[in-house]
Amino acid sequence: MLRFDHIVFGPIHSRRLGSSLGINLLPHDGKLCNFDCIYCECGWNRDGRVLHPVLPSAADVGAALESRLSQCTEEGTPIDSITFSGNGEPTLNPDFPAIVETVLGLRDRFCPEAKVSVLSNATMLWKEDVMQALKKVDNPILKIDAPTDQGAAAVNRPCGVYSVADVVGNLRKFNGGFILQTMFLRSPDYDSSDTEGLDAWMNIVRDLSPREVMVYTLDRETPMKGLEKFTVEQMSSMVKPLVDEGFTVQVRG
Ligand code: SF4
Repeated sequence: MLRFDHIVFGPIHSRRLGSSLGINLLPHDGKLCNFDCIYCECGWNRDGRVLHPVLPSAADVGAALESRLSQCTEEGTPIDSITFSGNGEPTLNPDFPAIVETVLGLRDRFCPEAKVSVLSNATMLWKEDVMQALKKVDNPILKIDAPTDQGAAAVNRPCGVYSVADVVGNLRKFNGGFILQTMFLRSPDYDSSDTEGLDAWMNIVRDLSPREVMVYTLDRETPMKGLEKFTVEQMSSMVKPLVDEGFTVQVRG
């Protein structure tokens, strides 16, 4: 399973993001998430549990990022993007709002052109400071995988109370200023291509009108076995009505 053992990792080069630094706000030796997605690249929560998880503070993240950015500057390595992703859900770190401020300040100082992105499951938007912090980054990439609570129970396996309607209500407060990320897959209990579910998901997209929709499918090893991915052609056909209506939809195979 893919786990990150540092606060700051990279830079790694990708065609999509260019030279990219990653930030892990979660335990370096385990996983911490309030979902337990059947496709999670970090594995099941039970296998990543640490008894006393140590979460980096804003000061820890600031020191680690400043050091890496200084090093990159000295070496002449450009940084095009800084992305919060890692061993779980970044907004569970209680210092998340302060960390965003710190990271944006260092970005402005060392690499003002770099875009700051956060990958989040959108469950903590009910906290006003988390919502405001996510609104400040360049790319808040927020997840809705299934349009119903039953679907989310099958795919995301939330650890507490989860209501798609509540998350949609919170996402409306972005006025479209976010990227909606959705995993397309087929499991014994859930099929993203099911007509009724797909229609309901598209209605959520129409309601929220995100500035971009990012659909993707399985890539690496998954904790649940027997999951099926979709081809780019299949996914493109699934989202065609949205594209025809003028939505920007990125399909990643
Ligand atoms: S929300 Fe992300 S980190 Fe959490 S279980 Fe799902 S894929 Fe893994």
